[in-house]
Amino acid sequence: MLARFAIAALAVFASFGVAAAQDGGKVKVVASFSIIADVVRHVGGERVAVTSLVAPNADAHVFSPAPADARIVGEADLIVVNGLGFEGWLDRLVKASGSKAPVVIATRGIKAIKTEEDHGHGHKHGHGHQHGHKHGHKKSSKHDHDHGPSDPHAWQSVRNVMVYATNVRDALIAADPDGKDAYEANARAYLGDLEALDREVRDAIAKIPEDARRVVTNHDAFAYFAAEYGLQFMAVHGLASEAQASAKDVARIIAQVRKHKIRAVFLENISDERQVRRIAKETGARIGGTLYSDALTGRDGPAPTYIDMIRHNLRTLQSALMS
Ligand code: ZN
Repeated sequence: MLARFAIAALAVFASFGVAAAQDGGKVKVVASFSIIADVVRHVGGERVAVTSLVAPNADAHVFSPAPADARIVGEADLIVVNGLGFEGWLDRLVKASGSKAPVVIATRGIKAIKTEEDHGHGHKHGHGHQHGHKHGHKKSSKHDHDHGPSDPHAWQSVRNVMVYATNVRDALIAADPDGKDAYEANARAYLGDLEALDREVRDAIAKIPEDARRVVTNHDAFAYFAAEYGLQFMAVHGLASEAQASAKDVARIIAQVRKHKIRAVFLENISDERQVRRIAKETGARIGGTLYSDALTGRDGPAPTYIDMIRHNLRTLQSALMS
């Protein structure tokens, strides 16, 4: 009896210990990049202080952590990452920081889209098929990261981000049990907003004529959007944004744009746009605007939150494909 009481008392002290570790009473969460940080902000609300390692408008594919990042990770109560090989730089950073904080994989439980080796030219047009991604598997000489066998860009499906939010909720409750009610209420509200957003995307894509639902982007970041919502994306680059597209890749895309009378090619906020501009120029396809793929914008930009990002992309696609 006494022993059981002692254990219960210990558990109470242990949870005080967690609370005391949180500076200013807030749970310190480090997110790998801006989209994850936004999900954590929505679910965590007032109880959390969130830091994103990769800044808005920056490319997580080529991120290289600075000593300051190791310090930030070292002070974290919780680390939230995308997983699926997106953050090739993470393990070393966590090790260097000495952090003992739990690392939460936001994509846990989603159905990952598998990539196939050297498939860049076996080009098909099924929904959700990956286009021209062979560079994602070519070891880059500049950056030693590897995407592994899964496409990491799962956040381009709103339904997947509902899973991210659920995983973040559960991780926050585990790290800060006193906030359970708040996290559950925040998550419920956010999941409702995401559900509505998902319907909005479906309704909008359904209004685009079927033969116009093909677009070209810079890097292969939209396979999940394609699989979920039935638009076809062809990419100049592979899964990773930094690989150099060869003249052959660009010629292949130009041929596809002509063959399928693709109306619009799109820029991204994280990528070099020269090749997309060249394709537009050579085919007469218009530049449809900027799609936000792997990063949010700052507060003053058109995509300061994930929901803003999806709405912006949707409006951009609609206006390019429906006029
Ligand atoms: Zn990417």
